Amino acid sequence: MAQNSLNVGNMKVHVLNDGMFATDAGNLFGEGTKSAKIKGAMHAVLVDTGNALVLLDAGFGPELPEYLEDRYELEREKDLMAHLEEAGYGPEDVTHVVLSHLDADHIGWALNPPSFPSATVYVQEAALEEAREMPEGEGRREAVPVIEEGTEEGWCKLLNGNAEIVEGVRVEIRSGHAEGHQISWIESEDDAALFTADLAPGKVWLNPDLIGGADTDPEATRENRIEVLTQAAKRGVPVILYHEPKDFLVAIRKTEDGFEGVTWEG
Ligand SMILES: [Zn+2]
Repeated sequence: MAQNSLNVGNMKVHVLNDGMFATDAGNLFGEGTKSAKIKGAMHAVLVDTGNALVLLDAGFGPELPEYLEDRYELEREKDLMAHLEEAGYGPEDVTHVVLSHLDADHIGWALNPPSFPSATVYVQEAALEEAREMPEGEGRREAVPVIEEGTEEGWCKLLNGNAEIVEGVRVEIRSGHAEGHQISWIESEDDAALFTADLAPGKVWLNPDLIGGADTDPEATRENRIEVLTQAAKRGVPVILYHEPKDFLVAIRKTEDGFEGVTWEG
């Protein structure tokens, strides 16, 4: 198992596990691949900057949403909130929650009733618009609590592109998996770490040519993945892989036909 905390400059970063899901491969790769089961973890990232406590993505939440019950299984010994407590924090300590995009497996603990009573939730406007425009019954539309125009207030604060959430946490739009999909750079002094969210959520997904069937814009995923992973390899920073079950903290190396993740030893 990878280490689940690391220092980035003078900030502390904790990886909080929210369990494992299992689903038919067809739900991730598209129709025609239904015979295999795919498993994935949910590794949200907690950044303690000293002045703020920022959570990057928010797992599946207290339980699997009803509309996913016949397609997903959720296995956990402990959930994200238990791991938050183990890391030494209470729910009220979290000041900011940044959602990479609006799939159910990334936003659960950020929904109502609020798990983090003192936190502001940050969502890209493009991601919310995409969810709103999806047909009824489709994932991102069902996942978000409010999709009528104008009613997002009270749940989240909308972002419009790249932004600094707090000093030390910077979001960058890298769409493809979803419109307005954002990754997070964690930076302090000369040190950094990267949270790729679903741009490259596991070791197999470091391959630029392997794109999930649910991606809104596969070519954008491919291009963004190459650009971002090239940067991560050059900077030599640890990368946190949201859905990777065990080896979720890796250094990125360029290979002949793509990238590989090597267990981070920092
Ligand atoms: Zn995901």
